[in-house]
Amino acid sequence: MEFNYDPQNIFAKILRGEIPNNTVYENDHALAFHDIAPQAPTHILVIPKGPYMSLDHFARDASADEQVCFMQAVAKVCEIAGVDDGFRAIANSREHGIQEVPHFHLHIVAGRVLGRMLEQ
Ligand code: 5GP
Repeated sequence: MEFNYDPQNIFAKILRGEIPNNTVYENDHALAFHDIAPQAPTHILVIPKGPYMSLDHFARDASADEQVCFMQAVAKVCEIAGVDDGFRAIANSREHGIQEVPHFHLHIVAGRVLGRMLEQ
């Protein structure tokens, strides 16, 4: 699989500071911020700072340090958001996954019962 990262995608612009975001947590290699159109009371996006398009791209090509920082950011977000009652982590990927922004992001969705995993 060849990944052609588009540096003009909206999350790349957020990472460069060209577009504002509502930051929840940040470390050396990851940024977490509130989704602009939340689907639940808690809806936070965790993204790597590196140019990765999808979960499989990130898992294949990101360094160990980047991957550890990303997962540490996920843990921090869960702690900060207080998702003790549960949550869902979603990584929509490419066309069939209906991924709109081609920069890898993990949705952390919580704050209500979320329904079944897939509608169809
Ligand atoms: P996807 O469909 O790619 O998995 O999810 C992209 C998410 O990014 C959507 O939930 C959408 O609301 C969110 N999003 C799109 N543009 C912006 C933006 O400019 N700022 C923030 N905070 N979220 C955005």
